[in-house]
Amino acid sequence: MSEIYPVSDDWKKKAFVTAEGYTAAYAQSVRDPDTFWREEAKRLDWMTPFTKVKNTSFHEADFGIKWFEDGALNVSANCIDRHLPERKDDIAIIWEGDDPSQQRRITFGELHTEVCLMANALKALGAQKGDRITIYMPMIPEAAMAMLACTRIGVIHSIVFGGFSPEALAGRIQDCDSNIVITADAGMRGGKLVPLKHNVDAALTHCASVKACLVIRHVGNDIDMQDRRDVWYHDVRKTVPCDCAPEIMGAEDPLFILYTSGSTGKPKGVLHTTGGYLVWAAMTHHYVFNYTPGEIYWCAADIGWVTGHSYVVYGPLANGATTVMFEGVPNYPDHSRFWQIVDRHQVNIFYGAPTALRSLMREGDDWVKKTSRSSLRLLGSVGEPINPEAWEWYYHVVGEGRCPIVDTYWQTETGATMMTPLPGAHALKPGAASKPMFGVQPVLVDGDGTLLEGATDGNLCMIDSWPGQMRSVWGDHDRFFQTYFTTYPGKYFTGDGCRRDADGDYWITGRVDDVINVSGHRMGTAEVESALVAHAKVAEAAVVGFPHDIKGQGIYAYVTLNANEVESADIRADLIKWVRHEIGPIATPDVIHFAPGLPKTRSGKIMRRILRKIAEGDVSNLGDISTLADPSVVENLVQSRSTAG
Ligand code: ATP
Ligand code: MG
Repeated sequence: MSEIYPVSDDWKKKAFVTAEGYTAAYAQSVRDPDTFWREEAKRLDWMTPFTKVKNTSFHEADFGIKWFEDGALNVSANCIDRHLPERKDDIAIIWEGDDPSQQRRITFGELHTEVCLMANALKALGAQKGDRITIYMPMIPEAAMAMLACTRIGVIHSIVFGGFSPEALAGRIQDCDSNIVITADAGMRGGKLVPLKHNVDAALTHCASVKACLVIRHVGNDIDMQDRRDVWYHDVRKTVPCDCAPEIMGAEDPLFILYTSGSTGKPKGVLHTTGGYLVWAAMTHHYVFNYTPGEIYWCAADIGWVTGHSYVVYGPLANGATTVMFEGVPNYPDHSRFWQIVDRHQVNIFYGAPTALRSLMREGDDWVKKTSRSSLRLLGSVGEPINPEAWEWYYHVVGEGRCPIVDTYWQTETGATMMTPLPGAHALKPGAASKPMFGVQPVLVDGDGTLLEGATDGNLCMIDSWPGQMRSVWGDHDRFFQTYFTTYPGKYFTGDGCRRDADGDYWITGRVDDVINVSGHRMGTAEVESALVAHAKVAEAAVVGFPHDIKGQGIYAYVTLNANEVESADIRADLIKWVRHEIGPIATPDVIHFAPGLPKTRSGKIMRRILRKIAEGDVSNLGDISTLADPSVVENLVQSRSTAG
């Protein structure tokens, strides 16, 4: 059992939510959701006040999810216009380019003008309320402006991460029938050009629905412009008015579609709506990050992922925060880049992903230590369970023991954070998602759906709705119901395994599909991975089960060693001994496969379903690998499989 870090006195004083405050507010949110959410919804400006708060059911007979249903509002007006009287000249967006010499600062006043211009440009291209527009952009301010411009005129955006291939882009454009694509000539990542417009051209040969492509000049590379379809934004911008009244949107009108990252299967077009989503994003941003006006907040996610939607753009801007957007990658020009950005912009709150932290950790502490980071006061983690080893490194080396870590557990489907320690309320346990956010009612059930009480392991479900819950799978409402509400009827099933400890804290143990059963003992792959990563020579590990004659399932471990280590039989033996010692003989890996790289989605998540296939020796049908960041990694693992032992 690793150490527990209690809330510091300083945090007890400055936090919005204390331990007692949390208990009281949580109890009210569950006992009387109408009153709780009526109050929380006041953080937004409503054009038409709602009278109904919650109208939801997870049961087949009357299935439906509606929040604030008769209210109306506009997202861009909430993220921009209402801040203008007080903070027109405050900075809304700080941009840092891939090239460290490039920065931009955009005030709320400027953001207002730019969003109105872009909204009018979209109208000039024929955009109408309810249309779908696909955004395929680098991490530049115009990406946020494009999102906000869509919301201003009631267009549903679908952002596709700029690292996706033309095929993946085309599939997502077709799925939601977009009529306009917004892109840039190119993006820059780690000094390399990402040919966005070129990819769009290739994708659009398969997308008859697209009538116009709006192109932002960013890199200045040569691109092809197709007559009548492609227009330069800087040209249209000159021809449209700089004011655009925000459309009045019903709370349940669609806001955006976002395809999930595809780590467990074919991506789903997750649909979020207007009112509930924004209340949820704004509220969680406020409490989780304890954001105080004037602070500089940086979420290092790409807008192509839900984290970028809720915590780079909508949550922070709804709260009038200064949000940092970073175009590049953590290790360019060198492994200090994140912390240089923190120093340059005096970032107070940093929110990143375990995969990035592990990749920096393996390069050693010096890259971190040569920067100051004295501005930091809070750190966050999202996307995967964070291994205790990485957590401790983040806490002690990056945060110098001064900054609480909010380990936020959530999903594209949940819109924003579902469980996390709140910085002033909960003691930190490395690797624990801790406590539910207000209004979230987690339960653990066994395979038959029987409720489990007390300290236990189980399948994580939610028994009631929260405002930011997804409303449908685009174009396939039945798939929505079938995917999430039929495994355990009457409950939303997350697909994740979870442990509740004696203090009532929740620990995500990984996808339920990733649980392995060794000689009748069920264990989460995350646990074995954490043990491996805790070894001094290991950078990263992925563990899957494979059929085993005697044990039922055996443990197959893919291991990436630290930058300076060379794989050997000695290290293999040592790793096996190490895991036996850390967890117990039951967790002894049967196979260790040294892997220079692991197959990851472009959001950095390990695709265990592919690793399972390779471990089983079933490599003929690897399923949908369109969301893989680097397909050659798979080929490499297939080839090197025979060397595993
Ligand atoms: P797909 O649904 O297509 O397989 P995905 O689930 O990877 O893709 P996301 O919605 O981005 O797409 O990821 C949500 C999942 O990420 C959660 O279900 C959980 O498994 C994991 N996760 C996210 N944050 C945390 C966290 N803080 N701790 C543990 N797990 C987390
Ligand atoms: Mg998922």
